[in-house]
Amino acid sequence: MKCQLIKLRTFVTGKSNMKTTRNTAARSAILELINDSNVALSQPAIQHKLNGLCDRVTIYRVLDRLLDDGLIHKIVNVNGVVNYAACSSCNHKHDHGHEHIHFSCRICSELTCLDQVVPSFSLPEGFQAEETFFTISGICKNCQDTQK
Ligand SMILES: [Zn+2]
Ligand SMILES: [Zn+2]
Ligand SMILES: [Zn+2]
Repeated sequence: MKCQLIKLRTFVTGKSNMKTTRNTAARSAILELINDSNVALSQPAIQHKLNGLCDRVTIYRVLDRLLDDGLIHKIVNVNGVVNYAACSSCNHKHDHGHEHIHFSCRICSELTCLDQVVPSFSLPEGFQAEETFFTISGICKNCQDTQK
């Protein structure tokens, strides 16, 4: 089943109620998944969990909207895969002030936001940071517990 990005205009005019309902459903389903997850989720993981509710393109569109709306942030994992996690401290639209570290587990491959851990750094003159991705790789708490 295909579903598309919420179109504000069709929502206002009420021309396409069926589609709007489905789109809103996709948006809330994706947001709920991300909010309920303790770890960051990649797009394929989200698609898998949605069980065929939405196609890949729709999921990317919804994710873009959620990023713009300041509800989620994205993290590039050590393997280059983009992951998405809920925002906990965004106070500003389009300005994801996420300088916290992310932990990438080499055993379960899960990526966790460490909201409390914020590294400090200073750049040489003439360099201007736009995005920062701090990722530590190692073994997460869950995997260490199961190894005991
Ligand atoms: Zn954010
Ligand atoms: Zn792990
Ligand atoms: Zn994070």
